[in-house]
Amino acid sequence: MRLRDFDVIVIGGGHAGAEAALAAARLGARTACVVLDPAAIGRMSCNPAIGGIAKGQLVREIDALGGEMGLVTDASGIQFRMLNTKKGPAVRSPRAQCDRHVYNREMARRVSAQPGLDVIAGEATEIVVQQGATPRVEGVKLLDGRTLRAPAVVLTTGTFLGGKLFAGAWEAPGGRIGEGSASHLSSSLRAHGLRLSRLKTGTPARLHGKSIDWSRLASQPGDHPPRPFSFRTTSIPLPQVECHITHTTPATHDVIRRHAHLSPMVQGRIQGIGPRYCPSVEDKVVRFPDKEQHLVFLEPEGLDVPEIYPNGLSTCLPAEVQEQFLRTLPGLEEVVVLRHGYAVEYDYLETDQLRADLHVASLHGLFAAGQINGTSGYEEAAGQGIVAGINAARFARGAPPLLLDRASSYIGVMIDDLCRVNPREPYRMFTSRAEFRLQLRADNADRRLARVAKELGLLDQSAMAAVERKEAAIARALAVLGSVRSAGKTLRELLRRPDVDVPKLASEHAEVAALSLTADEMSEVEAEVKYAGYVDRQALDVERLRKMEGRAIPVGFDFKRIVGLSNEARDALHRRAPLTLGEASRLCGVTPADLNLLLVVLARGERGLAGVAPSPAAPCA
Ligand code: FAD
Repeated sequence: MRLRDFDVIVIGGGHAGAEAALAAARLGARTACVVLDPAAIGRMSCNPAIGGIAKGQLVREIDALGGEMGLVTDASGIQFRMLNTKKGPAVRSPRAQCDRHVYNREMARRVSAQPGLDVIAGEATEIVVQQGATPRVEGVKLLDGRTLRAPAVVLTTGTFLGGKLFAGAWEAPGGRIGEGSASHLSSSLRAHGLRLSRLKTGTPARLHGKSIDWSRLASQPGDHPPRPFSFRTTSIPLPQVECHITHTTPATHDVIRRHAHLSPMVQGRIQGIGPRYCPSVEDKVVRFPDKEQHLVFLEPEGLDVPEIYPNGLSTCLPAEVQEQFLRTLPGLEEVVVLRHGYAVEYDYLETDQLRADLHVASLHGLFAAGQINGTSGYEEAAGQGIVAGINAARFARGAPPLLLDRASSYIGVMIDDLCRVNPREPYRMFTSRAEFRLQLRADNADRRLARVAKELGLLDQSAMAAVERKEAAIARALAVLGSVRSAGKTLRELLRRPDVDVPKLASEHAEVAALSLTADEMSEVEAEVKYAGYVDRQALDVERLRKMEGRAIPVGFDFKRIVGLSNEARDALHRRAPLTLGEASRLCGVTPADLNLLLVVLARGERGLAGVAPSPAAPCA
């Protein structure tokens, strides 16, 4: 009997699946990526835009870990903007509008070209499990009868499990328009005792660009020059375009209100809860009756295609109602609809079943990442994907997992949030979720995570050397700012003022101009100076967090042997097998007394227990 065809099988080739498969293969695991349609690898189900507030930070972290999303965004980006430039560096976030087809093609090409990674077309229908005291994954069965064997499987099935599409009275099985759903795998997961629930998301109609009266609309240009997402990109290859802005009108709201009863949400045919922060236009109209208009961004889906994405108009009203309300927006009076909006409802895995390495606690060898974990968004999916891929590869060779804590990254915040509570609505990242956001900036993701990636083997020496050059440039700049004086104050003191930034100092002082800092370096210098007091205070919280919360518990630790734990705590710990003390502390039934005991036992057998822990950004004084 074959024991192992692969080390890691990734089910799905979306944003989570592509990052998981690439990371696992790059770590030397023989990897299979099983996907319904290989041509759809990296396909964007909704708006072809990457990044945005907090999401941009996630992409930069994925990039710093050696992932692909930033590079592919740079290769396909047709408009780049840094958001929140008027606010502090902590909340500045990059965003890019991409050419949907170039993005899809480029990600699919990179996955296919990766040595050690086989793309297998097929539908995974069953997780094959060896039963026993600890059930363990043995492989995956496909609809065509094949069985692929591997000790680690990563689920990244997105919106496809039990996926159902809706628009007005129309409904059909599907993971997204034009693609079928995966109907069997949910039953297999349930049969292995996993809890699944339903969530919902939606997308707007796509409009024909030539039918829009652009002359009536305000334009929104991108940044010039465009600033790449990836720390490894040196130039942006595609021409840059403008987006435009329109808005709903009282007439739009009137059409929507009169037809709201035709929405499958209102009729109760969709049970899953949708994202509150990204509601359908009918939700907005009903929930905010006093608002006379809602902004709509008209964003091109590519350079050589007519499709325009009306951002803000997600809907699942009947097709004819969609056309009627769209024509009430300025500039859209004659609009031609290329594809109607719809909603999708799907199964997701209740995330309180996950551990901090994205391993499903009750099934040895099963990992999960992306929308299957109740999140929404490409960036959230990719961030989990890279961690799950790394950990599946490390699991397959018996290495300790990579654990990212809340002080290291937005990815760490997201995974911790998911493990704590099962999201009742699609989870998306916000800067407000990160208590250490002054340190978790887009500009310093490389300094926070590149060393971890280098240690794992996902970044090469030249990428690391670039990070070291950047650190040296920042240290040099801080030294110059501390020594040059103007009107009795050092430039460092002046930079603390809200109206002073590094470009202003460079325009007034030749010593600063001579530093020739990059945009990221300027932003980091500014953050170091402006946030100095807060960051020092936060450093104490980080230390406390790492001491207690981040204290590693070794994989396979035998909780049953700890004498003195309450029975309830022993059962909960044994079942869940937490990987950190923080995770253990949040389990129902584990008391402070149990934690103290656990801490003592761990301290006794400390050496060799730690997983690969991220190093914080090196301080620049
Ligand atoms: P997906 O990108 O969905 O990829 C899933 C992959 O799994 C696919 O490759 C599929 O072929 C494969 N697969 C599934 N089951 C199987 C199986 N059994 N066997 C083999 N292969 C399988 N996000 C936002 O941030 N904002 C939005 O407004 C938004 N709107 C959306 C609207 C719609 C209609 C949809 C469908 C999604 C929307 N999203 C939105 C979500 C965004 O598309 C997802 O968050 C993101 O694509 C999730 O990535 P993923 O890798 O988890 O899954």
